[in-house]
Amino acid sequence: MIKDICDEEKIFEILEKTKNPDKKTIELIFDRAKEKKGLSLEEVGYLTNLKDKELIDELFKIAGKIKEEIYGERLVFFAPLYISDFCVNDCEYCNFHIRNPMKRRKLSLDEIKEETERIIEMGHKRILLECGEDPVNNPIDYIVSAIETIYSVKTEKGNIRRINVNISATTKENYKKLKQAKIGTYQLFQETYHYETYKKLHKGPKGDYERQITAHIRAFEAGIDDLGIGVLFGLYDWRFEVLSLVSHAQFMDKYLGVGPHTISVPRFRKAPTVTYQPEYPVSDEDFLKIIAILRVAVPYTGMILSTRERPEIRRVAFKLGISQTSAGSKTSPGGYRNFSKEEAQFEIYDLRTLEEVINDILKDKLIPSFCTACYRVGRTGEDFMNLAKPGEINKFCRPNGILTFVEYLEDFAKINGKKEIYKKGYEVVEYYLNQIDNENIKKETIKRIERIKKGERDLYF
Ligand code: SF4
Repeated sequence: MIKDICDEEKIFEILEKTKNPDKKTIELIFDRAKEKKGLSLEEVGYLTNLKDKELIDELFKIAGKIKEEIYGERLVFFAPLYISDFCVNDCEYCNFHIRNPMKRRKLSLDEIKEETERIIEMGHKRILLECGEDPVNNPIDYIVSAIETIYSVKTEKGNIRRINVNISATTKENYKKLKQAKIGTYQLFQETYHYETYKKLHKGPKGDYERQITAHIRAFEAGIDDLGIGVLFGLYDWRFEVLSLVSHAQFMDKYLGVGPHTISVPRFRKAPTVTYQPEYPVSDEDFLKIIAILRVAVPYTGMILSTRERPEIRRVAFKLGISQTSAGSKTSPGGYRNFSKEEAQFEIYDLRTLEEVINDILKDKLIPSFCTACYRVGRTGEDFMNLAKPGEINKFCRPNGILTFVEYLEDFAKINGKKEIYKKGYEVVEYYLNQIDNENIKKETIKRIERIKKGERDLYF
C-alpha cells in the first residue's frame, strides 16, 4: 500500500530524469497546466527542477490565473484552537515533544468554551482543532466533547459553523466518532514522505510511517470524505516532497474516488525547546515555487497557508494559489486568553490580528470569506470535486464569500469606529457583485445583502 501512495524509487528516478528541463518541454507542460486538469508526476518533476527566471515567472502567472479561475478572489479564514499539549510522541521539530519538561495543559470544556468565544469575538466562523497524541489525556471522547462544546457556543457575534480537525492518525472506529461529531475536513500531514527521514525524526506511536500514510484511507472508510494532506517543508528535499504530495493526491483520487480537499504547506519554524535544525531549509523563493507548482499540479484542491509565514510572503502566496489561511492565531492551549511563547507549538511569523490581515488583503482586492456553505449543504467529497474539477465551485464561492464578508463588516467593522475597513470592504463587495455572471444569483445576492443588513445571518447558496 505504501508504494501505491508514494513510491520512493520511482520518485527519485523521475527527479533524476527531469534534472535539466529544456525550454520546449517546460512550455509544453505550461500548455497542459493551462487545461487545469492536473499534471503527471514526470511533468511535476520538470517543474521542480526549473531554474530559468523567466520561465519561473511564467509558472507564477499560470498558477495565479488557475487560482483565480477555480477559486476566485476569495480567501477563506480560520483560527486554530489548541485544546491540549499532552503528547506521547517525540517529533524532533515540535515543541510538544515528550522530552519537553514544561507543565502540560489540557483545556477543560469550560476553557474550550471560553477560547471559542474569544475566537468568535475576532470574527471567525471556522476553527481548526489541534491537539497532541495522548490516549490517556486526549482520548477520542475528549476530542468529541470538545467539538460538541465548540459547536454549542452561541454569542451575539455568531458561532463557529465548521470545525476542521488536525489530530494524530487513529483507528477507523475513532474516525467514525469524528464523523458523527460533524467535523469538516480531517487534516493529517505526512510531515515527510521520505521513509528514512521520517523514522529518524519521529519516535512514539507516530514513528509508524505506515500508520501515518494510510490514515486518510481509514478516515475515508469511516465516512470522512473531506481530507487534507500536507508536508512540513524543511525536513527533506522539497522536490521529493512535492512529487510525493502529488502522488498521494493522485492515489486518493484513483483509489478513493476523491482527491484531497486541501493541501497544507507549513514550513519548519523554530520552537523554544526544539534544537533540531532542518537539513533541507527551504528558501522564500523555493517556497513560493512549491505553492505555484502544487497549484498547477493539483488545481482542484484548496491550499492552506498558516501564520508560520511572514506577511510579505503570505501576500504573494495568496495570489499564487492559497485559498485558505489562518489569522490572529495562537498556538498553545488557552493561548487566546493568555499566550505564552514558551508553550507555543512553534513560532508565529505573522502576528497581525484578523482585522489587520483583512485590511491588507482588501488592498489586493481579495474577498475575505468566512464561508462554510459546502459542508452545510453536503457539498463534500465527490460532490465537491465534481464542481471543483471543472472550475464551477466559484459560482458558489463568490456569492458566499461576499455574503459572509458582509456579515463580518456589519458585525465587526461597522462599530468601534472602524469606518475605513467598512468603506473599503463594501467597495470590494460592490466590485465582485458586478462580476457575478448569473443574473439570478446576482439579484439574489443583492437581496440577501439587504437581509443581512437588517439583521439576518447565515445566508448561503
Ligand atoms: S462555497 Fe464551498 S468552497 Fe466555496 S468558500 Fe464556501 S465552503 Fe468553501
